[in-house]
Amino acid sequence: MARKTPYEKLQREFSKLSDAALASTIKYDYSDLNEDGKRALLEEIEKRGQTEQHMDAIKIWNSETLNQEYQSLVEKIHMETCPHCGAPGPISASVSTKVFSYVIMTHKNKNVRVGCPSCNMSKLNNDTLATAFLGWWGIPWGPIYTIGALGGYFGKRRKINRNELNDALYGSGCSNYVDLKTAENDSTRLKAILKNPT
Ligand SMILES: [Zn+2]
Repeated sequence: MARKTPYEKLQREFSKLSDAALASTIKYDYSDLNEDGKRALLEEIEKRGQTEQHMDAIKIWNSETLNQEYQSLVEKIHMETCPHCGAPGPISASVSTKVFSYVIMTHKNKNVRVGCPSCNMSKLNNDTLATAFLGWWGIPWGPIYTIGALGGYFGKRRKINRNELNDALYGSGCSNYVDLKTAENDSTRLKAILKNPT
């Protein structure tokens, strides 16, 4: 069999992702992909018939104007008060992983939290603590995911403390872009959306 081209390898990598992992790649990793990567990803979305579902994100990534508009919206969000506790901005976003195992099944949830450092930190701590207790039991993925999740803990703490306009904040809004845009001047609605980023 002929060796796979780099492009075919990309196609295969994307085809192996679960729907949730694909969605998260679109939101959080798209801007880091090279042209081939972007093309292969869009192809995979189309193949799964999910173009409609990811339309907001795709539009933003593919349009210079929308991209700029989105950028300034995210800058505005960055200066908002915390949607959870009302502490003054800037706010940022953090991603924490919660691993929990039942007898043979291990679940790994990626949780995005938009808020002030203290709210983001408590989410990270809760998820990490839950993982430390509940993550191990499933064979074989429990220990593997758990070590991965716990290993990232200190790096995530540092990111939260920096409280910057980071990729997570940038990615957290792009699937809600239309909602966020229409709520731009309505702080209460904006916060309600930010409280539960998808
Ligand atoms: Zn807060």
